[in-house]
Amino acid sequence: MADREEKIKVCVIGGGAAGLCAVRHLAANSKFETTAYEQTNEVGGTWVYTEQVGLDENGLPIHSSMYRNLRTNLPAKIMNFPDYIVMEQQEPSCVNHEEILNYLKNYAQHFDICRHFHFNTKVEHVRLESSEFYDKWSVQVRKLKTNETEVRRFDAIMVCNGHFFVPNTPTVTGIESFPGLIMHSHKYRKPDGFSGKTVFILGAASSGIDIGIELSEYASHVYLSHNYEKLKSPLPSNMTQVAGVESVHENAFHLKDGTIVDAVDVFLFCTGYKYSFPFLDENCGVRIDDNYITPLYKHLINIEHPSMCIVGVPTIVLPFPMFHMQVQYFLALLENRATLPAKSVMLEDSVLKTARKKHAHKLMDKQWDYNDSLADAGGFKRLPVFYKIGYTAWNVNRISNLLRYKDSKFVVSEDGQSVEVVLPN
Ligand SMILES: Cc1cc2nc3c(=O)[nH]c(=O)nc-3n(C[C@H](O)[C@H](O)[C@H](O)COP(=O)(O)OP(=O)(O)OC[C@H]3O[C@@H](n4cnc5c(N)ncnc54)[C@H](O)[C@@H]3O)c2cc1C
Repeated sequence: MADREEKIKVCVIGGGAAGLCAVRHLAANSKFETTAYEQTNEVGGTWVYTEQVGLDENGLPIHSSMYRNLRTNLPAKIMNFPDYIVMEQQEPSCVNHEEILNYLKNYAQHFDICRHFHFNTKVEHVRLESSEFYDKWSVQVRKLKTNETEVRRFDAIMVCNGHFFVPNTPTVTGIESFPGLIMHSHKYRKPDGFSGKTVFILGAASSGIDIGIELSEYASHVYLSHNYEKLKSPLPSNMTQVAGVESVHENAFHLKDGTIVDAVDVFLFCTGYKYSFPFLDENCGVRIDDNYITPLYKHLINIEHPSMCIVGVPTIVLPFPMFHMQVQYFLALLENRATLPAKSVMLEDSVLKTARKKHAHKLMDKQWDYNDSLADAGGFKRLPVFYKIGYTAWNVNRISNLLRYKDSKFVVSEDGQSVEVVLPN
């Protein structure tokens, strides 16, 4: 694509951390002409906290899943993009959501990103128009303030629409007989209103644990129901881990190990989210089956049409630094500084390698090799080593003390080669 004389026209969908990172790198390179769309009136994506749930003033579903008292579950230091390290908090090392939103706004200002954005503009439809010489994409947007639509053509598409806004709510037998409150964590905002209640939380990943601990200060009892190995960390005295739920009979929850939890007032699903790209036409070739997206090379590149990428698909990762790597790799491809392997190699890469489809994009410990592979293939710098050392040490600290880990001290040594993590006294 880079052999052409005209600029490469790139469309970025979304103004969260991933979209900002995409625009930051595109805008720094005169070979690209950047156009970015954000459906709300500001940058920050899921970090824009609002008390509202349901629909916003433009009639769109509220995108953010932030809750009022959320503090990051990672130290701020390792949430910094590698080219904008300004969050240096050491103790307590985790910060509240406002600080992350401020960071993202400052990042946008520092790299003069916002001038490329069309705000209050929703991408409604993306379709492949032709692929004779190069892919050409047609993008239809709706300007939400005037209701006008507009269609524009692009050479490349970067999908950065976020992955935590369509709740995944599993079917539970008998749930229709439950007379209490049913809620997904996407709509959880604050603990007021939960005082004295018996709360049954399904799911013990980050949100289930975090919200459960918060609610234990208000609720009479919190049950944390999950099918995995029991958490080893101390938990509040009124918070109990129980088995996964089998069925519900009015206020009684029958569990998979044959026990029953009675008198439940609130059923809170902390069961994660579904990937969703409602604007992608079928001819883009992207399919989702039980949260497994195909055909993607390196969880990123649309193998059928490699001038489209989806940023941020991997889970259980360090998101901002990973966006930084994914974006640079995609731009290296667009500029022909890097080349893709044969299609058969890419298809092999996208084959399911986990026992269940819904875990296809979980990287965890594999994220470091993944990030390095992007850097090596794209010919740009690997992530500084403190991200990996810090994240790994942090996880050990976190799982051993879920009640206090966010207040831990987190210090990266001056040479960036070691990290100190200390729980408060
Ligand atoms: C509750 C919660 C807590 C988290 N805590 C942490 C943490 O502690 N540390 C951490 O590193 N990560 C955390 N994360 C992960 C977080 O999702 C990532 O850090 C990151 O912010 C994701 O950025 P994103 O740009 O991919 O998505 P988002 O932030 O969701 O941004 C997507 C943007 O795209 C816009 N958009 C969507 N569709 C369209 C469309 N059709 N047209 C135009 N615009 C559109 C949306 O309005 C939104 O602004 C947390 C996530 C959640 C939900």
